[in-house]
Amino acid sequence: MSVYTIPAWLRADRIAIPPQPPEWVDLALCAEVSGDLFFPEDGQNSATARAVCRSCEARLPCLREATDRPVEGVWGGFSERARKDIHSRHVAGESLEDIIAEDDARYYERLEGAAERAAAANRRERDRQHLKYAAACDAATTDPTAQSREKAA
Ligand code: SF4
Repeated sequence: MSVYTIPAWLRADRIAIPPQPPEWVDLALCAEVSGDLFFPEDGQNSATARAVCRSCEARLPCLREATDRPVEGVWGGFSERARKDIHSRHVAGESLEDIIAEDDARYYERLEGAAERAAAANRRERDRQHLKYAAACDAATTDPTAQSREKAA
């Protein structure tokens, strides 16, 4: 695999391509998806690109590559703006591994929260259906005309 298959480096007019491709390029997951994902236009969401990065084995070296210089697009699971903050934290002594771990933890926490909310909504809907069904059964057993009305309907 060459550096030219990495979306970020596809914008070679804006980024200096290293003469010797680093080894992590072989692990880059973004080489297998649309490069446009990694360059969201103003106002577009980079969530899909960042999700790809989360599964990429080259995330750490990729982030390292992009942290110390102003490169465009999503690198290492972070947008350009997020990397400015990461750069400051890294300069202040925080490791990129910790920053990635923190980002992952926050992401999975949000995912779990969303899954819990979806499960609770399902439970509420199931209970609502159950109550509706029980009420219909009650009405049918206490009101003998209900069954004949239902049949007629
Ligand atoms: S971390 Fe993201 S941008 Fe970097 S190589 Fe992997 S998929 Fe590509």
